[in-house]
Amino acid sequence: MISFYPGPSKVWDSLPHYLQDAWQEGIMSVNHRSPEFVAVAQEAIRLLHEKMEIPEEYTILFTSSATECWEIIAQSILATAPSLHLYNGAFGEKWHEYTQKLSGRARAYTFSPEELPEVSALQHEAAPLLVALTHNETSNGTALPEAFLKAIRKAFPEQLLAIDATSSMGGMLLPYREADIWYASVQKCFGLPAGLAVMVCSPRALARAHEVGERRHYNSLLFMLEKIKEAQTTYTPNVLGIYLLMRSLQDRPPLSVTANMLEKRYQQWVQFFHTYPKFSFLIQNGELRSRTVLPLQAEARELEKLKKEARAAGLYLGNGYGQWKNSSFRIANFPALTEAEILQLQNFFRSYQADIPKN
Ligand SMILES: *Cc1c(COP(=O)(O)O)cnc(C)c1O
Repeated sequence: MISFYPGPSKVWDSLPHYLQDAWQEGIMSVNHRSPEFVAVAQEAIRLLHEKMEIPEEYTILFTSSATECWEIIAQSILATAPSLHLYNGAFGEKWHEYTQKLSGRARAYTFSPEELPEVSALQHEAAPLLVALTHNETSNGTALPEAFLKAIRKAFPEQLLAIDATSSMGGMLLPYREADIWYASVQKCFGLPAGLAVMVCSPRALARAHEVGERRHYNSLLFMLEKIKEAQTTYTPNVLGIYLLMRSLQDRPPLSVTANMLEKRYQQWVQFFHTYPKFSFLIQNGELRSRTVLPLQAEARELEKLKKEARAAGLYLGNGYGQWKNSSFRIANFPALTEAEILQLQNFFRSYQADIPKN
């Protein structure tokens, strides 16, 4: 079965090999305070800086999930300070909801998946401490252009910018210096099994954590920062996940090579559904379309048939998500998928007989 699900997603074909090595090297039983673990964690962090082009002055931390990062930001960066959440889909909405429960002062500003908000209109918002953005909205397949991130940075120079890059980090070049906090879990573009996430913090974000001084949780940012100085974590982490991250990063080309490849594959998909117009993109505005998560529209009845036949052909398509659950399916365009697998899916679509003619 080939998974085109946008998370958890297809893992690297080299994974069995890494796992065998991990077993032989005793990684799965290693103590998380031992020099063996520290060496793996240090190398993983070094490789994240190198291969993901994360600036040296940014601190990289390990967490368990992107969801945990929502909580850490709320408890250790915001405390009771106001935040402004700009979003157009389900993940941005969830982040806002979690933050509101913890801080009580999270304000939502929603916009259409087809159109970016006017930055000048946002400046009328009461000044928050932090602006929260979802770089790649996995639920509807939209992405924020770099120019928009820059405009937000310019409009909110005093504020911290926090960016959920869960389904783009590892696949796209990210303008790290335009924001203060970035995070992603590894079951999307990193091509790894779930249960690990990376959180990237600017010096300004860390200064804010020190100002708040919050030390009430196992994952209080200050505790995490103390531990990461020794390449360790506050609790026993996903040691195997960190090892797999290290191994897979070692084998990765420079990120620009990956990003170019994904762009090319995205353009191929656009061309494909232009030539075989059985399905069309959920998002019309090409400027806002994600390069890594591609949702396509389909009627609810057609969706059932399509997913069933795809499964029978050994192809696992992603369900729609949130409000688009019954009107779309999603195809991951993640780095671990191979050209041959994409061709296989395209051949399936070529021979697929739609029940309901598209109008
Ligand atoms: C998948 C996803 C999440 C949730 O990730 P977890 O690792 O399950 O916490 C959050 N945000 C976005 C944009 C996602 O794609």
